[in-house]
Amino acid sequence: MFAVMLTITPYGAAGEVTGSAYLVETDAATVLVDFGMFQGDKDDDARNVIPGRIHRNSVDAVVLTHAHLDHCGRLPLLRREGIKCPIYATDASRDMAELVLRDAARIQEGDFERRKRRAERLGHKLPRNEQPMFDEEDVERTLAQFRVVDYDLPIDVAKGIQAVWHEAGHMLGSASVELRILVDGNEKIVVFSGDVGPAKLPYLRDPEPPRRADIVILESTYGDRDHKSEQETIDEFCAIVNDAHAKNGKIFVPAFAIGRTQQILYYYTKLQLAGRIPVMPVFVDSPMAIGASKIYAAHSELLDEESSRMAEVGNSPLRRRNVEFLETAEESKELNERNGPFMVIAGAGMCNAGRIVHHIRNNIENPNAHFMIVGFQAHGSLGRKIVDRVPEIRVMGEIRNVRAQIHTLGGMSAHAGQSDLAAWFGAMADSKPTVILTHGEDSARKPFADRLRGEFGVEPILPVYAQHLSF
Ligand SMILES: [Zn+2]
Repeated sequence: MFAVMLTITPYGAAGEVTGSAYLVETDAATVLVDFGMFQGDKDDDARNVIPGRIHRNSVDAVVLTHAHLDHCGRLPLLRREGIKCPIYATDASRDMAELVLRDAARIQEGDFERRKRRAERLGHKLPRNEQPMFDEEDVERTLAQFRVVDYDLPIDVAKGIQAVWHEAGHMLGSASVELRILVDGNEKIVVFSGDVGPAKLPYLRDPEPPRRADIVILESTYGDRDHKSEQETIDEFCAIVNDAHAKNGKIFVPAFAIGRTQQILYYYTKLQLAGRIPVMPVFVDSPMAIGASKIYAAHSELLDEESSRMAEVGNSPLRRRNVEFLETAEESKELNERNGPFMVIAGAGMCNAGRIVHHIRNNIENPNAHFMIVGFQAHGSLGRKIVDRVPEIRVMGEIRNVRAQIHTLGGMSAHAGQSDLAAWFGAMADSKPTVILTHGEDSARKPFADRLRGEFGVEPILPVYAQHLSF
């Protein structure tokens, strides 16, 4: 009889885009690849737990592809439950994870305090076991578990398992992780794509996919489509800025603090220097985006050539005179009274938290305001409702009608579109790997599976949450 020697189990991002987590088990070792938070709506909070199988087996090591919250956000739960294994990540990912997890802890603690105060107002008490998902102390302890790795350098992470980090071109420090796993005396190469950036994402280096694999776990966020071309996106960006400038309008850009914010600043600077848009104030309205911008500035070795050149001649998008970084909530609120034109880049990217929420409340009914949607909006998020132009939305407990101008700029995604994903896979297609599609809603991963089937003759597996895949 055959013994099962290698099992891969997704504990998130299976048929959806958040909560990335894969348990990799051999007879000798257990490794967790990413341990991300489920994000989107309130119901997701209940899913942000440690699955029983991880509890029972413990974990020898965590391997992190990148530091977005949906890939690292459950890590503090491990330390909280006494699982003290090393967490391997690139240098920039460690710095970013620190920023992301500290921010998440503050949000958890803030939410908890609000729930407590509300219960007290109503004369109740919160159940004794109710706590923030994790706090800053959990994060400190988690950070102490990090071990920094170099790109392209294989290291042993657990018994019989080596890992190599390959540039993924998705955010600063991001990687696809190749695990070289000894199974029954033979080496199996398992590649976790992580999130893959488009080939021409400005600012960052391009993805460098591995050349060989036995098993590939491939993201499919935008597996159903190619993004609008960069040119089209740039033209739209210019049109919005020029229109707002002419009519003293305000532009609000809900944007992830990490990556997207810096990319918008890059576009603004580049287009302004090219004379296509005028100078107007651009406010980076997010402490986290300010922190992320500092980390970007500290890791200039990870930028692409054009961005390095811009920085060298004193045109770094992070250091322009019209760009103002708003540290405090008071500064953010002052924007309510300020006349346009101006642009505000604020988090959270999917509009479910952060300062963008008060900007939505105050401006979504203004026909002279623009909302520039530049990132993925998960099902159930406020951002998705705005993109779908739901006539009435609820913001901070109040009903608002969507009357502002809503623009969706598809070409700025930090995720590869269908063709770039297929090309990424094409680099290792000759080795005829087993393909597992994750990190995409079914509406995206099914058409992507069709494309891979047609182009490469593979039969992708589309797993559900906690489905054991044995090899
Ligand atoms: Zn990501």
